[in-house]
Amino acid sequence: MRAYTFSQPRVVREAIAHAGTDTAFLAGGTTLVDLMKLDVMTPARVVDINRLPLRGITLDRDGLHVGALERMSDVAADHNVRRDYPLIAQALELSASAQLRNMASIGGNLLQRTRCGYFRDVTTACNKREPGSGCSALTGINRTHAILGTSDACVATHPSDLAVALVALGTDVHLVGGQGTRTVPLDTFYALPGSTPQVENVLRPGELITGITVPRSMWAANSIYVKIRDRQSYEFALASAAVAVEWRGRTIRQARIAAGGVGTRPWRLPAVERALAGRPATADTFEEAVRTAADGALPLSHNAFKPALLRQTLIRALTVLAESR
Ligand code: SF4
Repeated sequence: MRAYTFSQPRVVREAIAHAGTDTAFLAGGTTLVDLMKLDVMTPARVVDINRLPLRGITLDRDGLHVGALERMSDVAADHNVRRDYPLIAQALELSASAQLRNMASIGGNLLQRTRCGYFRDVTTACNKREPGSGCSALTGINRTHAILGTSDACVATHPSDLAVALVALGTDVHLVGGQGTRTVPLDTFYALPGSTPQVENVLRPGELITGITVPRSMWAANSIYVKIRDRQSYEFALASAAVAVEWRGRTIRQARIAAGGVGTRPWRLPAVERALAGRPATADTFEEAVRTAADGALPLSHNAFKPALLRQTLIRALTVLAESR
């Protein structure tokens, strides 16, 4: 670990003053501290934001508002979240471990870095950590890597379960920085790797997430998160499905669907949504609708199983959701 300056501001204005590319904001620390110990992240300034007034879980006519510093476990346990947005509670409870969920913040979860092992090993080539150095995963161990949205420069998956759930529900993310405040749809917040995999989102240098708003909808309360992984605890997704459905009797009026564990960012599946709209909730409907889910996928040497796994994960989510009615 290298030397850095440290501050603990109490107001947002102080936190973002002078913040730039050399600044890291510290919330739960469950990603940042690990990566600093490994020399993967080497900020010159660490700003502890835990004293900022960025808390609160509230529900109003616009939807669910969650402050960036709320802890994952608190959001998962919230009565309104569990009743009106069960997908969010499920995605949180299937993330990490209980200890980590007690520490990690909502804002930090959305900004967590990839679990690609090469990214965390400074002795290997990694374009995301060191632009232009190469991608060790392309010819190395790539079983857990992405098949959608990849490039020749990077094939790392986005690791957040919560982000997949929030993208499916049409969430907005609120930001503040030197140029003021702005709100960005989470669906457009994350960047594809292209030739610049070190650029992971639209955050400007020194900009801070202050919170999220999940809109009210006819589908959020009828939602599910299914996560397939190598072990049933403390593991990242090989494939996951966030599914929310507005029903008309046994017919799907409309569906919102996103996938995790397969894309370089949370992966919306609009073609699957269109294929489900207006159809009866039957096994045949689900089989047919998910046929296009992995269109455009580029499997790697160790993860040719992922397109089929993605389709089956979606079918399982749709089936369990339909049976729970
Ligand atoms: Fe680095 Fe991305 Fe390649 Fe992993 S997949 S080694 S993060 S460039």
